[in-house]
Order: sequence, then structure tokens, then C-alpha cells
Amino acid sequence: MLRRDVLTILTAGTAGAAIARTLPFATPAAAQSAGPFTLPPLGYAYDALEPHIDTLTMTIHHQRHHQAYLSNLNAIVDKVPGLAEVAGKPAEIDKLLFDLDKVPDAMRTPVRNNLGGHWNHAFFWDLMTPGGAKEPKGKLKSAIDAAFGSQQAMAETFNAAAGARFGSGWAWLIVDKGKKLDIVSTANQDPPHTLGARGIVGVDVWEHAYYLKYQNRRPDYVKAWWNTVNWDKAEANFNAAA
Ligand code: MN
Repeated sequence: MLRRDVLTILTAGTAGAAIARTLPFATPAAAQSAGPFTLPPLGYAYDALEPHIDTLTMTIHHQRHHQAYLSNLNAIVDKVPGLAEVAGKPAEIDKLLFDLDKVPDAMRTPVRNNLGGHWNHAFFWDLMTPGGAKEPKGKLKSAIDAAFGSQQAMAETFNAAAGARFGSGWAWLIVDKGKKLDIVSTANQDPPHTLGARGIVGVDVWEHAYYLKYQNRRPDYVKAWWNTVNWDKAEANFNAAA
């Protein structure tokens, strides 16, 4: 990419459409694909998480990577009974992800990868909403303190899980099957559901989530990413899971 193109993007202002127009490339994945699965709006501007998560990464991550999972789902809805019906219905998506055994063998992996990818990214965008509480509070704070000793100790364990995930995946603070807080990582786009768990906080550690700004420095990315977490949202996730 030419440096002036990067500068054009970074100075394009806060409107996502303006940024999209100045992206120095165009791929079919940017287009909405025909079908029931559509890209949910981000809910905030692509530059809202600067300087922690940069505008270009947010734009490509949302418009290209998240869209790709949706396009892949639209391409298989005719082959998976019931899949089209869950589009746009978060509770139904949850149910299907908890019950992937019901998906025919031949289609289970693509559903797991792409419906998992869709769920994970929608969760991630919501969690990173700018503003909101900057520290855990209420019942979630009590549960974190009881399980890990402190918020800082929890974050250290979480960061270690994010760093230790070999290749692509996610690190999570979850409520596990036994309703206890735990930290895990999952490979690829496996959502917490594949462990029978519910996600409270989660970070995408695929290189596409950080490489433009942080290159190989995943620990720096994860450390900066904590600044974007909206603990009001995390607490709502916890209350829904507990
Ligand atoms: Mn991602």
C-alpha cells in the first residue's frame, strides 16, 4: 500500500462510508452478499477506538473479515436445514451454536467456522463500544475478585491465554458449564458455546485484528485493547449468563 493511500484513509474523517470510498483496493468481499445474513452496523465510528485500535484495522476487520463469514453463511443456507431461520436472531444463533451436533456432519465445520465467526465478531464489536464503565463493578467485580483475587490477576491470566494461543483464535473470560468464571482460549472461530460456556469478555487474536498497527506484537495489542472494553457490557453479559 502506498503511504499516501494510508494517509488518505486516516484523514477521511469519521464517516465509515467516506473511509470505505477511499480504501485503496476493492474486493468482492466488501459487498453485501445476497441472503439472510447481513452485516450488523458497528454502532460507532471506525475511528472511535483510536489510538488503541486503528481506523484502518477496524474498517477492514468489520467490512471485509466479518462480512466474509456472513457471505460464507449465505452460500450454505440451502444446504443446512434451519440455518436461514436463525439469521438476525441472536437467541436462535446461540441455541444453534450450543447444539452443533444437530447440524449434518458434512456441514458442521463450515457452520462452526462461519456462524462462530459471525457470533464472535458481533460480540467483540459490542464489547468494545467506546465509553461505559472502565473497570468491572457490581456482581461481576465480586465474581472476578472471588475467582482470581483481583481484576489485575484476572487480566494477567487472560493476557497469558491470549499470548499462548498458537496461530489464530480468541481468548475469553467465560462463565463455564458449572456457572464459574474461567479463562480459556479457543482456536480458529470457535465461540465459547463449543465449550458449553458463555462469553463475558473476549479478544480476537487473529493477526487481522492487530497486524497493521502492532505487526507481530500481539501482547502490546492485547494490553492496549483492554482500554476499549466497556465493562457495562461485560457485566450485562455476566448477568445474562449467571
Ligand atoms: Mn476477526
